[in-house]
Amino acid sequence: MPEDWRERPLGIFGGTFDPVHFGHLRLAEEAADHLQLGEVRWIPAGQPLLRTAPQVSARHRLAMVRLATARNPSFEVDASEVDAAQPSYTVLTLERLRQTSQLGPRRPLVLLLGADAFAALPGWHRWQSLLELAHIGVAHRPGFPIDLARLPKALLACYRERFCEQATALRDTAAGRIATFAMTPLGISATQIRTLLANGSSPRYLLPDEVIAYIRNHRLYPEN
Ligand code: ATP
Ligand code: MG
Repeated sequence: MPEDWRERPLGIFGGTFDPVHFGHLRLAEEAADHLQLGEVRWIPAGQPLLRTAPQVSARHRLAMVRLATARNPSFEVDASEVDAAQPSYTVLTLERLRQTSQLGPRRPLVLLLGADAFAALPGWHRWQSLLELAHIGVAHRPGFPIDLARLPKALLACYRERFCEQATALRDTAAGRIATFAMTPLGISATQIRTLLANGSSPRYLLPDEVIAYIRNHRLYPEN
């Protein structure tokens, strides 16, 4: 019998995506491979809480994510945080996903994070509840080693308790484990791209051409 892809874990990939770039795309692609995900659901943040306001509107960031992911049938885009009037809390988004009949309580979910986002997890609203709702898959990121000695104490305890060596084990339960994976190291950040654009320099080959065209057409990230 053919394998039912719906039983594979669903990756959940949140971010500001201001703008989306090849670091994000490779993270999602390689997570799907290493963690054997069925699909990856991209969820651009509407009003992120833990950082300064994004430079461009949630609508534009969502549109750029749609353009960047359009040709990958394993990627889907979820506009719920952009549509919501209130600030984005990942824990509430996961609770809402669990309540929908499509996913239900048993489908394994894997919240995808770069190593910098993982180290900052204790600052997130109800962060310990995240692991009751999803697994966490942490991607290596250049400049942000997963250095256990420097993790906040509560996060380290959580990591030690929940770390699983075999990423395939994420299929066995709906939530609660932490796996790491080494993706192709790409030292790309949206900050770097915004700086290049502000300086009138080319961001080409750091993000998809369609996204660059969108930025130009809508005059986003204007030159200083
Ligand atoms: P900014 O510089 O504005 O913070 P960013 O490039 O970090 O932008 P975010 O939208 O903040 O992008 O990141 C979304 C998620 O993608 C986070 O979990 C982050 O760790 C991860 N991520 C972003 N870029 C990379 C990269 N080059 N390698 C690995 N993970 C990445
Ligand atoms: Mg970031």
